[in-house]
Order: sequence, then C-alpha cells, then structure tokens
Amino acid sequence: MTSPLRILLIDDNRSDRTLVLRELEREFDPLDVQEITSSGELNQAIAAGNFDAVVTDFQLRWSTGLDVLEMVKQRHPNCPVVMFTNTGTEEVAVEAMKLGLDDYIVKGPNRYIRVPIALRMAIERREMQQRAALLEIRLRGLLNRVKIGIFRFDAEGALIEANRAFLELLGAQSLAQASTMNWFDMRDCYRQLMHLPPPQQQEQEVNLQRSDGTEFWALLTTTLNTVEEVTVVDGLLEDISDRKQAEVDLQQLNTTLEIRVQERTIELQAANQDLEEFAYSVSHDLQAPLRAIQGFAQILLEDLSETLDASSSATLQRIVANAQHLNTLITDLLTYSRLRRAEIHSEPVSLSSVLDNVMAQLNSDIQQQQAQVHIDEPLPIVQANRLILTQVLSNLLFNAVKFVAEGVQPQVRIWAEERVEAGEPSTVRLYIEDNGIGIALDRHEQIFSPFTRLHGEADYPGTGIGLAIVRKGVERMGGQVGVESEPGQGSRFWVELPGVREP
Ligand code: ADP
Repeated sequence: MTSPLRILLIDDNRSDRTLVLRELEREFDPLDVQEITSSGELNQAIAAGNFDAVVTDFQLRWSTGLDVLEMVKQRHPNCPVVMFTNTGTEEVAVEAMKLGLDDYIVKGPNRYIRVPIALRMAIERREMQQRAALLEIRLRGLLNRVKIGIFRFDAEGALIEANRAFLELLGAQSLAQASTMNWFDMRDCYRQLMHLPPPQQQEQEVNLQRSDGTEFWALLTTTLNTVEEVTVVDGLLEDISDRKQAEVDLQQLNTTLEIRVQERTIELQAANQDLEEFAYSVSHDLQAPLRAIQGFAQILLEDLSETLDASSSATLQRIVANAQHLNTLITDLLTYSRLRRAEIHSEPVSLSSVLDNVMAQLNSDIQQQQAQVHIDEPLPIVQANRLILTQVLSNLLFNAVKFVAEGVQPQVRIWAEERVEAGEPSTVRLYIEDNGIGIALDRHEQIFSPFTRLHGEADYPGTGIGLAIVRKGVERMGGQVGVESEPGQGSRFWVELPGVREP
C-alpha cells in the first residue's frame, strides 16, 4: 500500500477549506490533510514536519501567506507550497515566487479544481529536482573517485572544470592552479579538433610535466562537444607511465637478448668449427693406420691360406671386413664434413651427363643386383656443382638398388619435371623411384640425419651417412630434397635444384 500524501491546509475560511479538501480528495488517494487555523497549530505542524506539501491562503487573521511560506521554507526548503487567495496582488505573487512559492492561484468559483493540479505539478517538479540533485551528487562522487582525469576546456583554451584525479595527475591543488600551468596547448588542440571529421576526437600519448617539474606519460583523449550551444573540448587523461616503462624495459631486454644471442652464435660457430676441424683431422689421420691394418690382414690371409685353420681364417676375414667398413665410414664422414666447409661453385650442369657418370660408377652394383634402371631422357640442365651432384645422385641410386626385399629385382625409374612460373626463376625436380621396401611416414624426415639407419648391418650394409650427404649437398647448391614413400610400396626420392633458362 502506498503511504498517503500529507498536506497542511492553511485557511481560516471553513467553506473554502471544504471546497479545497473536496478537490484534493478527488485527485489524491490516499490523502491525509491537516487543517491549520491558528499560528500555534502552524508552529507545531512545522516543528513536527509530518507533511509533504502545503496549501495556504494569503489573507489570514493571524498571519499572511508570505510569512507562512517563509516559515515553511526555512525549515523545509524542498517542500512544495501552493498559495490560493482572493486578496493578494500581482506584487504579492511575484514576491512569493521569489521566496520559493511553487504556484499561485486566485480564488474563484471554478478555480478550486486548479489547486490539486498545481499541487501535483509542484510535487512532481520537486521530485524531479531531488532526483537530479541526487544524480549530480552521485556523478560528482564517481568523477572524483575514478583514477582517470576528466576535464573540459573552451575555445580559448581555458579550463572550465576538472575532477580530482586530473588535479592529482598534474600535481595541482585547484582548478585555478591547473589553469596557470602550461601543461598542454589546449587552444591548439581545440583548433586541431575543429578540422577533424566527426567524431571530432583525438587520442595521443604525451609526456607531461607536473607542477613540481617531474614528468609522466599519459594517454590523452580529447573530443569536441557542444554543451548548451557552446563548443567545448572534453578530455580524458590517463597515466600510462607504468606501461611505457614496461615497453622501454622490454625493448632493452630484447636488445640485450639479441646481443647475447649474437655473442652465443659467434661462440657456437667458433666451437663448431674447432670441432669440425678436429673431427676432420682425426678422420684423416685414422685412414692411414686403418689401411695398414686392412693391408696386413689381407697379406696374412693370402700368405697363410694353406696353414690357417678355419676359425683363424674367419677371424682374419672379419678384421678385413670391419676395417673395410670403417674405411667407408671415414670416407663418408670426410665427404660430409667437406660438404659443410667447402666453398661451392655452381654452374649449368647436364643431368644426363651426371647420371651417365653415376651409372658407370655403380655399374658393378647394378649388374650384381640385376637391377633395371630406366631414365626418361632428355633431362634438363640445372644450376649445380658437378662433383656434389654426382655424390648426391650416386647415393640415391645406390640406395634405390640396395633397399629391395630379398628375391625382388630392383627396378628404378628416373625422370625430371621443370617448373616455370612467371616472374620466378625456374626449378627442376628430379625423381628417383624404386620398387624397394619403402619407408614409414614418421621416418621420412629422420633418415636425412647422419647415422640414422632403419635396418641392421646384416640385412642392408651401410654407414647411415649417405642421405645426410644428399641433404647437405643439395642444400649447399640452393635446392631441396624429400621423399614420398610407404612401407612395401617403394620410394620416390626427389631433388629440386635451380633450373637454367634457355638463352
Ligand atoms: P645407409 O644407406 O648407409 O644405411 P643412408 O643415409 O643412405 O644410409 O640411408 C639411411 C636409411 O634410410 C637407410 O638405412 C634405410 O633404412 C633408409 N633408406 C634410404 N634409402 C632408401 C630406399 N630407397 N628405400 C628404403 N629405405 C631407404
């Protein structure tokens, strides 16, 4: 249930009171009217304050409407008061309005109905004013509590208002002090905003000076606005010193890191080179004694062939085979190491002539395996180093013939595809396809690393360096290498090299 509207009705005339009361009852429900007919009653009622609005006559036996109005407003400044009279003049009305009267109605036969209307309007106006005042208080509170500076200045660059955070950011005690500070060219900012398209807004990171001379970084957002037909600039000021400092720190850290990475890379390169040189000389020095072991074992085998028993002869043969394997390993390693270190000179090379060479080199292996090698001629010219390309293709063809299942005749097909794209240098892709045992997908990358072997020495002899030589060699010639294969489905290795355009 809503609480009743409480009204003080001040009038000496009983019939007037009755008529007003009747109109009030029509308009307000529930209603609680206290009728006042003496100054004692009025004093008491004002002191108690149990009313929401006042309707008063002007001419009273014991006072005047103006005095009543003054008394009420003194204690209850927001209380709506409506005056209803047949004796007051226009001057009285003006005087009363100045004192805060809400409405003034001249008594007359059809005028009573206007009392409740005037009263309702007065009450609503008061409520609106109260709500607006509350909102204003809340807004002020909020503006003063936010950490962002909020301010407004005019076309002349004069500060009109600012919140607490703004003053604190600038280290100013008051708006007046902030106005004297030369913290930012507001007039110029106004001019710039005038020339911008809507929304006339600007955001900038600025380095500002506080009143004590210290500096800070701020994000300054300014917007051109029209308030009550006056053009002003509304601004937001946010301290971003922490973020700026973090950016500087990060940049410094990045620079330090970059320098450290460069230093470490140089150190690593030097260490790598030392290591390579060491490995190269060790491999090189190992070759001579190894050849001696191999030679002496061979001599023993030949000279003592009549006298040696079967077991000693087998042991000597194993020594020869092991020395042979070690020798191949060292030769491969030296080739690999040389590939990494040597300077590479590329020239136009005929793939056909290189393959002829390779076929001749591997002739005995091809014969022994009864392999069939088919080359799709003609093959194009590529930009390469002849010696390295020979090593690369020799390793690939040797593997293609070697890695076949027992009892299967190796069949190898070699062909090339030339790729020419507008504006791009042409490339040549050479394919070497075999009908061998194939390679599982998850090993395609791995097999190009040194010493990776997927089979035992007994099944397929080798050193595990061949494909590492292939990759390193191709990369050093500016190309790429890869494989497409599945177990049991054969393998298709490819080598991509820069092509040579027909003149
Ligand atoms: P190696 O031939 O001395 O073992 P590679 O580096 O040439 O060493 O090859 C590494 C491994 O990759 C081989 O041991 C083999 O398992 C696999 N591989 C290479 N070529 C083929 C091929 N054509 N078919 C099947 N497997 C292959």
